[in-house]
Amino acid sequence: MSTLTPVKTKQPLIVRTISELRSELSIRRQEKPGLETGFVPTMGYLHDGHGSLIQRSAAENGLTVLSIFVNPLQFGPNEDLDRYPRDEERDLKLARQEGADIVFIPSVQEMYPKRALTRVLVSEVTESLCGASRPGHFDGVGTVVSKLFHLVEPTRAYFGLKDAQQVAVVQQMVDDLNFNVQIVPCPTLREADGLALSSRNVYLSPEQRSEALVLYRTLQQAAQWAADSEMTAGGLEAKVREAISRSPLASIDYAELRRYPSLEAVDPQLRLEEALKQSPLLLAFAVRFGGTRLIDNAIFPIKGA
Ligand code: AMP
Repeated sequence: MSTLTPVKTKQPLIVRTISELRSELSIRRQEKPGLETGFVPTMGYLHDGHGSLIQRSAAENGLTVLSIFVNPLQFGPNEDLDRYPRDEERDLKLARQEGADIVFIPSVQEMYPKRALTRVLVSEVTESLCGASRPGHFDGVGTVVSKLFHLVEPTRAYFGLKDAQQVAVVQQMVDDLNFNVQIVPCPTLREADGLALSSRNVYLSPEQRSEALVLYRTLQQAAQWAADSEMTAGGLEAKVREAISRSPLASIDYAELRRYPSLEAVDPQLRLEEALKQSPLLLAFAVRFGGTRLIDNAIFPIKGA
């Protein structure tokens, strides 16, 4: 009788350099012509939200590449780059469980070996919401996602709708620059009590953690308010701001209703019923609890991704 326990999950290959990544991909593609590649770009400190993206990629593609890279280009000078949480060992465990085949973990030096003079800038969709409150953030995102797409050459790339603006920005970039990749938006995973999973939740004190539930509660209430046929875009925004402001620890960075995915402003006088005839709407907010900035959103009409 064998003493070996059956291996249910295979160990992903860890690669840290661009040349290793390229040669590994090339070997696998030569071995299996027509191999489809799913790609999940992340900044690590993985949770089940990331896990759901990896899992979906593994289900839909013959090969899944996960990247873990805390991209300095997308952090502002006073943001949390230096204290962004990291735990490679735990990340690799989750990557294996969810079915990643290759995990690309480059250093900053590997990704930016010399002062880069090129940026990928997307206009308009980057000018509101997180783009307005984090100047330069989406320039960093557009640039690193372009680089990663060139390196991985994925068939499909998986992005969470928790960062709905990021999905819109990346889709716009892919359309404008003819990247040969399908962007797959994935639904937001939440804790049992509704808090959206985020690597940054680890910063929250117990008191802030319980106050942060105001975000999910407000999204649920907003869905009810939006069902009122007399409700206007401006009326909904006002009610949302008021609801969040009632939480003593919450400080609103933004709370806005915008068209999705264009992110154009909505006439505040317009009834939601009318507005929704023209496009879906994104209700998005960024709220600070102490030094921690959390984002959350809902897209109306609410539909499963
Ligand atoms: P990050 O590591 O925060 O850059 O996130 C990497 C990817 O995971 C992005 O596409 C995020 O939108 C996605 N993501 C983050 N949190 C969640 C979540 N709670 N549910 C689903 N996807 C998520």
